[in-house]
Amino acid sequence: MSFDLKKRREDFPILQQKIYNRPLVYFDNAATTQRPQQVIDALTKTYTEYYGNIHRAAHFLADKATIAYEETREKVRLLINAETREQIIFTKGTTESINLAAFSFGEAFIQEGDEIIVSEMEHHSNIVPWQLLAGRKGAKIVMLPVDEEGRLKIEQLEKLITDRTKLITVTHVSNVLGTINPIRQITHLAHSRGVRIFVDGAQAAAHLQIDVQDLDVDFYAFSAHKMYGPNGVGVLYGKKELLEQMPPYQGGGEMISEVKFSGTTYNELPYKFEAGTPNISGVIAFGAAIDYLENIGIEKAANWEGELLNYATALLIQIPGLRIYGTQVEKSGVISFNVEGVHFFDLGTMLDKFGIAVRTGHHCADPLMDHFGIQGTVRASFAFYNSKEEIDVFVEALKKVISMF
Ligand code: PMP
Repeated sequence: MSFDLKKRREDFPILQQKIYNRPLVYFDNAATTQRPQQVIDALTKTYTEYYGNIHRAAHFLADKATIAYEETREKVRLLINAETREQIIFTKGTTESINLAAFSFGEAFIQEGDEIIVSEMEHHSNIVPWQLLAGRKGAKIVMLPVDEEGRLKIEQLEKLITDRTKLITVTHVSNVLGTINPIRQITHLAHSRGVRIFVDGAQAAAHLQIDVQDLDVDFYAFSAHKMYGPNGVGVLYGKKELLEQMPPYQGGGEMISEVKFSGTTYNELPYKFEAGTPNISGVIAFGAAIDYLENIGIEKAANWEGELLNYATALLIQIPGLRIYGTQVEKSGVISFNVEGVHFFDLGTMLDKFGIAVRTGHHCADPLMDHFGIQGTVRASFAFYNSKEEIDVFVEALKKVISMF
């Protein structure tokens, strides 16, 4: 491994503690990651040194906060290689980014009878906003299915696209299966048929080097809290010509140019979509998280997570009665599984007693659960600060728990 795991772990104060008198093993990174001291310090620094309401500022503190806030926008632009800063919209998370896009894209481009293709492996937050849009407009949601290995049936996509299809929405990485979807291939197909593509990057942004121009996606969304940054901050990237044609999502301060009772004009991008006081300190600290992640190197982090994934998978498949959902080669550090005869919830609560944090349940992906005919799974998800020793502790604890049933 080419980065210093011990040193990296020391950056994360929360990982140093014991849970039930055992060292914490944090394997719930797909739900939210932990934050390094550098991000915590950036939050503290903002509040102690230069906190003020951003933009429209005539005083020192607000001016400094505005500069720091806008610096993060530039860091995000560089991180995902967006063409311009106007295309980086701050939201409170992936969920809000999707709702924004579904509302505003929907208002501008979706008519009665239009179709939106949504994959079967989506998180609820990338299904429901499109269903709401379909309900409002009398449009139709069409499902792109997955196979038994947890792979999208891309070969069916061509047939699913009709002359009424306006948008395909798909996750870059599945939060349940870990499957990395072939976004470039899907985009190519979509664009060749005049269809737009929205990508939910919530599970990708901390683990893959994202290049929105290379992927050629029309929209891309992600959350800071899954990238070692603060919660309550997210990003929506969009193609400029689309964002310009889309109406505002929310009305309020900052998103306007001029307000009159006879009519209001809207601010330019990205402010048109950033109504009200945003999460100022959170966005500034997100800048520190991006610096931190880039300092480690996303690729290096991903390589280590890949090693952890292979190591854990090799141990888990030896456990009798254990089934892993999502067995694609192109896979991120997420393992969802069930053990015959033991309820996933019991496994999760018993593992917690060993100091091990995993997630159990439907993972906000009911359609995918239905596909596999299950109610839920246990999910272990890795970050670069996890170790093989932690996986050993987890697998041994899991075996002990299973033997109790
Ligand atoms: N999409 C996926 C694939 C996710 O994993 C999540 C978070 N679990 C979301 C969307 C929603 O993200 P957030 O809760 O940060 O808005």
